[in-house]
Amino acid sequence: MTSAAEKRHLDRVGSLGCALCRRIGYGETPAEVHHIREGQGAAQRAQNWLTIPLCPTHHRGDHGIHGDRKSFRNAAVDELDLLSDTIALIYGSKK
Ligand SMILES: [Zn+2]
Ligand SMILES: [Zn+2]
Repeated sequence: MTSAAEKRHLDRVGSLGCALCRRIGYGETPAEVHHIREGQGAAQRAQNWLTIPLCPTHHRGDHGIHGDRKSFRNAAVDELDLLSDTIALIYGSKK
């Protein structure tokens, strides 16, 4: 079940723009919400608080997080780096 607070958080994460594009200097590209444990075992329901914004390319594209992750390896970051960026953005310590 998704609480109202979780929904607000998901909206906020989605509105930030792709976290990987931001890292590699592409600026703010429209993003979808990625749950960082998605696809790691069906019983493990991803938590709505552990989410990062990713553009369709970096999310579902061939080289994105659900593909072969080439973009992530090239950028030398993982989901947790981007989760940290996302939290920092929400709390205003980074622009
Ligand atoms: Zn992106
Ligand atoms: Zn995803």
